[in-house]
Amino acid sequence: MEKRFGGLKHILRAQDFSRKWIEEVLFPKTDEMEARTLKGDRGQPLFGKEMISLFAGESLRTRASFNIAMKRLGGEITFETEDVRKFSSMAKGESLEDTIITLNEYGADVIVLRYDEEGGAERAAAVSDIPIINAGDGGGQHPTQALLDLYVIQKHLNRIDGISIAMIGDLEKGRTVHSLAYLFGKFDGVKIYFVSPDNLKIKPDIKEYLNRHNVRFFETKDVREVASKVDVFYQTRTQTNLGTKPFDRADEKNGFTVINKQILDLAKKDSIILHPLPCTDEIVRSEVDPDRRAVYIKTKGDRMSQVKGGIYIRMAILWLLLF
Ligand code: ASP
Repeated sequence: MEKRFGGLKHILRAQDFSRKWIEEVLFPKTDEMEARTLKGDRGQPLFGKEMISLFAGESLRTRASFNIAMKRLGGEITFETEDVRKFSSMAKGESLEDTIITLNEYGADVIVLRYDEEGGAERAAAVSDIPIINAGDGGGQHPTQALLDLYVIQKHLNRIDGISIAMIGDLEKGRTVHSLAYLFGKFDGVKIYFVSPDNLKIKPDIKEYLNRHNVRFFETKDVREVASKVDVFYQTRTQTNLGTKPFDRADEKNGFTVINKQILDLAKKDSIILHPLPCTDEIVRSEVDPDRRAVYIKTKGDRMSQVKGGIYIRMAILWLLLF
């Protein structure tokens, strides 16, 4: 298993993956999962494999897609909770570590963990013999989301090297941005425009990492300044559940971080607009959804949406970990 995962036992941080593994193992397997799904293949390669799903934190897509991916491959979810802090002995004061050790003793093949504090997945992995998949840890990382984002970029643009991307919104707490930025450190010539108000800028440790990996990045408060230059818009929500105060996304002084018709008019014809979802007020949906460049959800024709990519990438991850 560790070999198929490029030497990794757990999936904790985006910077742990190698480019070679992403391109030569994960993406082809993800293509295969898409083809399998479209064919309606009902084979059960993961029959007899067990997954535990522990979520301490709000989720629709990550939780549902891991569960569906596991079942679609014939595996089982043997224990799951949507609110581990409330519906386990953590409500009585039990530590995350004891929770994970107990579940290890019961046996399973993988634990998918969303935790509400940064570093939760690493703490769990430190006491777990079973692979831990970080399904988002507070304002830390969300590596499987970033892998799916990268896969969808590759699908639509047919390249990752040399792209320009605007990452927009709450860059301080947006864990999907953190993980995706780390992944770009594996590729050549990527240019990142970080677009956020001053109080929600990307964290210094990520900037240091990008500098070390020769990724050029620029910071601005106004998406209009960069809209005509980028191949990818990566819009994100205000992370109110992690403590960020809601702010006006179209504020001329504080920063213009909304995607609307004005941005579409400035944007390249072949650019794409991504969003890890959920989406609140940062995309004017009535204006942007009908545009072909919007690929976050329910795309036109046979263009792959990010939402669909999430299922395929998670099927591939579970297959590679467990088959
Ligand atoms: N669903 C993503 C996450 O869990 C993005 C978000 O919630 O804004 O991080």
